[in-house]
Amino acid sequence: MKSMYLNIPPLTKNAAGTPYQLTGKQRKKIRSLIHKECCNYDSWYRECLGPDRADDGSCIQLGADHLACRWMEHAVLPLDPELHAKIIRNPAKKHCIRCGSWFLPGSGRALYCPSCANQVRKEHKRDSARKRRHTTEIKRS
Ligand SMILES: [Zn+2]
Repeated sequence: MKSMYLNIPPLTKNAAGTPYQLTGKQRKKIRSLIHKECCNYDSWYRECLGPDRADDGSCIQLGADHLACRWMEHAVLPLDPELHAKIIRNPAKKHCIRCGSWFLPGSGRALYCPSCANQVRKEHKRDSARKRRHTTEIKRS
């Protein structure tokens, strides 16, 4: 039963390489998200069934002042996009949306790893060159 958890990415670290700290308000929101949405949290038995549970079987995130649970970060937190964006800022590493590899973003808006960014830039150049050629051909005829 463990295999289904093998693909959860690690916790995202901030630019300093440490876990994201949570404000009191954010902890409260996260607590209610866990109670409402986390499929690994059994609120009847107050037990976590996920891969990152505490040693005594309780939810590791409920008592933490920082992001502590991978399942929470990747499966539960995105359900509240606003909270998600507020907590995860300037991540140290990002997933390239093209090849899926990890990279260090130069800016918060970077979507591609450096090699894919190069590739995409080249493709854009080729496309716009083709378009330019195309329009001049039309003009000529
Ligand atoms: Zn890439």
